[in-house]
Amino acid sequence: MKKALLFVSILTISFGCTTDSKKSESTKQQEFAIIIHGGAGTILKKNMTPEKEAAYKAKLTEAIQVGHTILKNGGTSIDAVEETIHILENSPLFNAGKGAVFTHAGNNEMDASIMTGNDLNAGAVAGVKNVKNPISLARKVMTNSNHVLLSGEGASLFAKEQGMEIVDPSYFYTERRFQSLQKIKEQEKTELDHDEKSAFYDADIKDSKFGTVGCVALDKNGNITAGTSTGGMTNKRWNRIGDSPIIGAGTYANNATCGVSSTGWGEYFIRGMVAHDISAMMEYKGVSLKEAAQEVIQHKLTKLGGTGGIVALDSKGNMVFEFNTAGMYRASMNDQGELVLKIYKE
Ligand code: ASP
Repeated sequence: MKKALLFVSILTISFGCTTDSKKSESTKQQEFAIIIHGGAGTILKKNMTPEKEAAYKAKLTEAIQVGHTILKNGGTSIDAVEETIHILENSPLFNAGKGAVFTHAGNNEMDASIMTGNDLNAGAVAGVKNVKNPISLARKVMTNSNHVLLSGEGASLFAKEQGMEIVDPSYFYTERRFQSLQKIKEQEKTELDHDEKSAFYDADIKDSKFGTVGCVALDKNGNITAGTSTGGMTNKRWNRIGDSPIIGAGTYANNATCGVSSTGWGEYFIRGMVAHDISAMMEYKGVSLKEAAQEVIQHKLTKLGGTGGIVALDSKGNMVFEFNTAGMYRASMNDQGELVLKIYKE
């Protein structure tokens, strides 16, 4: 017992001398909180019309309010995440569900995942072509199957068995995304080295092909859920699967640390295990969410050559946006209903 007390005091002393930001964060308690993104990329004000900007802001606000209301009424973070992501998946503005980007073959193949921080349970789907709301299918994989990740035909079969809403693949057609594919195919005709590929990805996202969506919520019971849904990257081939359905890369949640949803160039997020890395830094190094997110996105991911960002929150309701791109569609709302809504870097 004495030993335990001594250990606690040593911990208090050693962590008591960390940064001021950590001190202030630990006193900032939120009963519940919610944070979302609608994709990161070369989002510049000069490329945006006031109408477009207003449309994105309105949809992000609508989505976060849905989740916030669930949390405020004592609902679970998993319901908040699923319902919030539905709004974004059902909007053609974002690269998820209705607005999913096109593959090289001219299809829409969607990936999604969800994870609950109280039990480290998770569900994910990849390469789904006919399920209206892939985030709900990911939830069903988590709760109604013995598996974590289902793909392609099998995932669709499971969706049917679960009575999920199945749509004709043409539901996912949007002219804007189809034209983006044509433009990229034109550009692709030249062989590209790595740097050019980065520029190519930037061109991809500049042309509004970004827009993966994600949400992390903390409920009144202290449970964190994180979820991510995407159409992947325009012109992807060979049943490419990105980071969004990969637990630890695109999505991670642990009540002991934080919940994270990623967006960006998926291959780098997989290699960097970005979402889990942020949680692991908090767990093993005892740093704050802000410090962990900055280190992983601004240093580790950037050094790898990856671009993108994350939204995250910790068990106290501290919320963080972190990205190394020009912008990220993002919003957060605390238990007082205070909305932070941003697009560009500040
Ligand atoms: N991370 C997604 C993917 O690589 C794309 C994105 O977030 O824009 O599939």
